[in-house]
Amino acid sequence: MFPAVADATHMRTNGVLWRGWLPVSRGRRIELSVHCCFPATLVAVTWLLAMACFPRFFPGWHPAAYWLVATTVALADSVAGLAHELGHAVVAMARGRQVYRITLYGLAAAVRRTSGAARPRDQFAIALAGPVSHLLIACALLCAWNVLPIDNEPLRVATGFPAASNFAAGLLNLVPISPLDGARVARALIAGLVRV
Ligand SMILES: [Zn+2]
Repeated sequence: MFPAVADATHMRTNGVLWRGWLPVSRGRRIELSVHCCFPATLVAVTWLLAMACFPRFFPGWHPAAYWLVATTVALADSVAGLAHELGHAVVAMARGRQVYRITLYGLAAAVRRTSGAARPRDQFAIALAGPVSHLLIACALLCAWNVLPIDNEPLRVATGFPAASNFAAGLLNLVPISPLDGARVARALIAGLVRV
């Protein structure tokens, strides 16, 4: 889904398990790093969902279905973390900013890009792109959930659960409290209004 070319020559030991390059547009690419927290978080979340959460709320499935759905949900939420940072990165690059690296930690990710002064409208668009990517993923999953057979509960949970978590993550990130993206959106709005 996100093709990246491995580059072992730049491997370092600062907790990074894998490092590669993510092509984003013609001739432009972003370094993609997978931190050692990524597989640990993936395993922990999958285990929690398969052993504690789903059997309690959705009894009667085949045991393998719990693990399959839990793995799908954990992976979907991890990819959503990458999509969040890619949203910031792609808009930042489109606005002339340099983006160096995205690091995946598990359910969270971080992007490293040039800092410094930017026009309020650019700051606004870059900050908003992260939460909006969660909301777009939630809408896509909700559409899929809507057309799935109503009697196939595991399949509906596999789409409905990450739809709900992405919707919640999108709204949470819009809350104007630092360090959430909402605070940067609000700061950019105020800076734009002061300039007018
Ligand atoms: Zn963000």
